Amino acid sequence: MKTGKEIQIDLGQFLSKRLYPLSLGIGLVISFCFPITYYVLEYKGGQRTASHLADKSADKLKDVIIASPNLWKYQIYSFTEIEREMSQGSDVLSLRILDGKGAPIPNYQYQQHSWEKTVWWNRWAPKGSADILFNNEKVGRIEVVISQRIILLKTLLLFLVSASAGLLLAFLSYNFPLKIVQRLEAELQEQFNNIQQAYKESDLLRHLAQESEKRFRDLVDGLDAVVWEADAQSRRFTFISNQVENMFLIPMEEWLSAADFFKEQIERGDRERVLAAYQRSVEEEAGCRLEYRRISNDGTVVWVQDNIRIVSDEEGKKQLRGVMVDVTHKKNAEEALNMLNRELQNSVHQLQQRNLEVSTFHELSEMFQLCREREEAYRIIGVAARKLFPEDSGAFYILDSSRNMLVLSNTWGETVQHEAQFSPETCWALRRGRNPRLSTNNHLFCENIGSEINPRCFCIPMLSQGETIGVFHMVPSCAATAPNEAGHDDNEEKYQLAVSMTENVAMAVANLSLRESLRYLSIRDPLTGLFNRRYMEETLQRKLMFAERMKRTLGIIMIDLDHFKRFNDTHGHDAGDTLLREFGSFLLNNIREYDFACRYGGEEFICILPETTLEKTLERAEELRGNLKSFKAEHLGRPLEKFTFSAGVAVYPEHGATAAEIVKAADEALYLAKRKGRNRIVAAVVKGPPVEKEKLLKLITSRNTAALPGKNDKPWNYKRP
Ligand code: GH3
Ligand code: MG
Ligand code: MG
Repeated sequence: MKTGKEIQIDLGQFLSKRLYPLSLGIGLVISFCFPITYYVLEYKGGQRTASHLADKSADKLKDVIIASPNLWKYQIYSFTEIEREMSQGSDVLSLRILDGKGAPIPNYQYQQHSWEKTVWWNRWAPKGSADILFNNEKVGRIEVVISQRIILLKTLLLFLVSASAGLLLAFLSYNFPLKIVQRLEAELQEQFNNIQQAYKESDLLRHLAQESEKRFRDLVDGLDAVVWEADAQSRRFTFISNQVENMFLIPMEEWLSAADFFKEQIERGDRERVLAAYQRSVEEEAGCRLEYRRISNDGTVVWVQDNIRIVSDEEGKKQLRGVMVDVTHKKNAEEALNMLNRELQNSVHQLQQRNLEVSTFHELSEMFQLCREREEAYRIIGVAARKLFPEDSGAFYILDSSRNMLVLSNTWGETVQHEAQFSPETCWALRRGRNPRLSTNNHLFCENIGSEINPRCFCIPMLSQGETIGVFHMVPSCAATAPNEAGHDDNEEKYQLAVSMTENVAMAVANLSLRESLRYLSIRDPLTGLFNRRYMEETLQRKLMFAERMKRTLGIIMIDLDHFKRFNDTHGHDAGDTLLREFGSFLLNNIREYDFACRYGGEEFICILPETTLEKTLERAEELRGNLKSFKAEHLGRPLEKFTFSAGVAVYPEHGATAAEIVKAADEALYLAKRKGRNRIVAAVVKGPPVEKEKLLKLITSRNTAALPGKNDKPWNYKRP
């Protein structure tokens, strides 16, 4: 390689060598050519002039010869005339006439300047000659020599001028191009110097670039990442760092020769996404960060994080540059973390579910505690099922009192149309008597499931103290289909939860039944089924308070069977019991719905008639007494003996303000009725001074102006217990 120092431009020297002979030639040519040419031309002209003059002289001399053919040689005068004519205004140097033999004729010669003839240059002066003919015979010849002094002078002058011009031209032709070339040379030299300088600088830069590239290579190869560059158009790698071989065990050449970012090496599932992201980056000229999988040469999956940016070169050609980092460990850790998170979420969800279940069960039991009737409990079951299985649907069927039919009590969810009722025999869950989940085939035989058979649905019998009270039918939603990856079976959980709920419900229903029977026992007289004395006292107290608050009246009828001891004695205690029981039924059938019939004790009964005046109470009592005439009852297949009763009637507020006072007044009236001969109704006596009595009676009349209900009237706001 040539160094900058070797480049030297010698154009000036080169040109001066070439120009020197050229300019010399030009000088010489111009200096000599013109004078020589001029001299030659002038010499020729001189020769022509000499010939012309010789011809002219010959003609004249011919005339002279004609005039004196023998003596023409002596006609010097004529010759002198010719000579004079000839020499006048011409440069004739000499003129001489030769005789026929060629010898000069003495005196017939002219010499203009004697000295000129002697000078050397006239030795080859232009000459001309003409023959002198007489009678076609050459008698002599005339020779004319023209002086070349003027020619030489002019030629000399011309030479001087030409030489000057030649020298000048030679000088110019030598110096001018040389000057231009020298200037060009200087400029070229300067340019060369600049180029040399630039070359030196570029050399330095190249060196620096090489060093920089080496440093970059070292740096990039030392990175635990793959640095790459690819052409956006052809999707080929134009650069990729060595680390790629370690990361994917694929030789560098394969990377650089592979097309389309080495697409085949990207995991199949990620391929479309990655290429679409590359394409989008190029179109939007925005970088992106991708995480995807590449398959290494040994088949292992390598998760990479690729940070890409787009650069355009000066021609607008787009390049992708990226840094690929192996994030497999991070991804695995993330996956593990996600798995843990999912498990945690599942656990949290399960805990929340358990919490909800516990709170729902707690709420359920609290509500069951507050339930007074089974129907209320059945309604609560629907609410609880909606809460515990919000995504599912189902129904509760309750065995009716005849125990022949399971009647739809409650449904929730929307997906399934349930049968309104079905026979217990058609339910396989009830037939088996335990809590199995039915298989799909079994559903074909279940009428309660309806036309749409759901393979995940199940029935759970509700058993209370060994007896079936209903069926819980559950249709899980489609979302809960199969056990998930963590082995969590949503359906199984629902089944277990439903079993728990059903057991809970069954227990609650059993409790309610127990409470109902306890309550029944606590307020009912076991023989007659009427309310007992304790309940009567409570009810009377309550109704009196209501009457007082609402400013209403209340009547009671105290009934005592006449001569019952005698009846017992006559027909036996059992017959007496039968009579008492049948009399209880009689009372229930002959009082209004909102009245209370109670067994006060033994063969004594009290009827409480809310919102009833003394008059009406007496009417009711009389009605009862009258209706007893048609009372019929049997004991052991034999009709019971007819009997009567006596009754005392007392009303609030005439006969007392408290329950004890009213009952006492009625008891006194009853006693009076017994005393008067039995089988009669006696009203209690109104106690106090007559004036007060009148006032009270008026007050009672004004209070009861509102129409009171008759026997068949509906109660106001009263529900029979
Ligand atoms: P009076 O007309 O005066 O009321 O006479 P009486 O016999 O009905 O009255 P008494 O009070 O003397 O007799 C009541 C009888 O009722 C006494 C008792 O043997 C009978 N008795 C009370 N409770 C029962 C019962 O639960 N079953 C039966 N069979 N008899 C009862
Ligand atoms: Mg009695
Ligand atoms: Mg009696």
